[in-house]
Amino acid sequence: MAVPDHRMARCLVPLPDESLPGFALRLGHRLHLPPGHILWRLGLLGAQTTATIAPSGRLFFIDPVRRERLARIIGTTAQTVDQLTLHPLARRFPPAAHAVSWPRGPGELPKPRQIAPPWILSSFSRYCPHCLAGDGSAVQERHGGPWRRRWRLATSFACVRHRVLLKHECPGCHQPSGLAANGSGPGHHLLLIGNPGLEGLHPAACRNTQAGQRAVTCGYRLDKPADAPLGTLPQNLAELQFRLDRLLDDETAPEDAFATFADLQTITAVVLATWPATADMVPFEQGAAVDEHLAAQEKRLPGFTVQSAPRDEGVFWTYLPRASIGAGAVLSIADRLLSLPDGELMQELGRLAPRCPERDGKRWGATWKLLEREATLVRRAVVQQALRKRPVDRRRRIPSTAWSRRQVIPSLLALKIEGCQGFASENIPQELPDQ
Ligand SMILES: [Zn+2]
Ligand SMILES: [Zn+2]
Repeated sequence: MAVPDHRMARCLVPLPDESLPGFALRLGHRLHLPPGHILWRLGLLGAQTTATIAPSGRLFFIDPVRRERLARIIGTTAQTVDQLTLHPLARRFPPAAHAVSWPRGPGELPKPRQIAPPWILSSFSRYCPHCLAGDGSAVQERHGGPWRRRWRLATSFACVRHRVLLKHECPGCHQPSGLAANGSGPGHHLLLIGNPGLEGLHPAACRNTQAGQRAVTCGYRLDKPADAPLGTLPQNLAELQFRLDRLLDDETAPEDAFATFADLQTITAVVLATWPATADMVPFEQGAAVDEHLAAQEKRLPGFTVQSAPRDEGVFWTYLPRASIGAGAVLSIADRLLSLPDGELMQELGRLAPRCPERDGKRWGATWKLLEREATLVRRAVVQQALRKRPVDRRRRIPSTAWSRRQVIPSLLALKIEGCQGFASENIPQELPDQ
């Protein structure tokens, strides 16, 4: 059935910093329709006319034709529609630029990538229960507060307004607080909204289904902060989040924000690759969250395939911990290193250099390319000099047979991943082809 493109009689106005899936959930709640129907009505299903699902790539980018039509349908401007996606952040937040493949030739249009780069959470959203509970206004009382767009950035680990760490799991089912999960394994694509056909759920209700029981929906209300004690927000993390948030606002020049995030991307990868060398810079519980993240990555290494990446579970050091406290810890260490004068930063990196795995190790992902292309000139020079490429010591390589037989010795993994099927350098998310 063709999608009608006249304006909807009843609609909602997008809230500031609201994400597209959040908007569709609130609109579905208002109209008593399943969000899947709303996505169809808004013209957001896949490209084929037979498509029945909205791909998660709409989170990053809506093409101009769809954007115009959607603006007409909900009675707003194309710019407001664009603001529902991460696209307007592309000038400030490098991964938002990497999430879209830009045209190589005339006549081609930008397209969202199927696999999100590290630092963009495409399979789940962190959240602040207080924000989801709404601000007390009539419309938010009825349909809940916004699922914020910036909660999809791995650098958002706290809500400075409510002074809490963001949550990353549903307390009901202990799964990532997903709006988007759908099946598992190759061939399953991420959805913009999980279980889009389910109706009658509040926008702040968990849409996860129990494993193996597709009919049982969790439904836990994520906007009920009283049920689960929230992590208190340490002062240094509150200040860091405040500064990171400001980089996304208009008062910061986009190029300054872009450079700051690009430098952080490089240094957080170095922190994770050399962990626990800098663990003494954060309190014990923050360090423990980083330990947990790296242990989970190590566990996934033997079975890692490119298809695992869409679930925000990459094994590269370019991924920040899923848990807010771990992400905050790594970012705060990198931030402190980057606040040092060049000479001292050089000294600190020099201290880490002996613990740094070889630069052609696959787990670096696109770190060195990003350093080359996007880090600030000064910081690039310091990092390049402190962490010079070492000559390859062939004796330290893992034999390819170890990988292919999945009998990798964990202690060697950090040194080198070699000969893994489907794990070539072109498979790192930033470099994946669109299809
Ligand atoms: Zn909040
Ligand atoms: Zn749940």
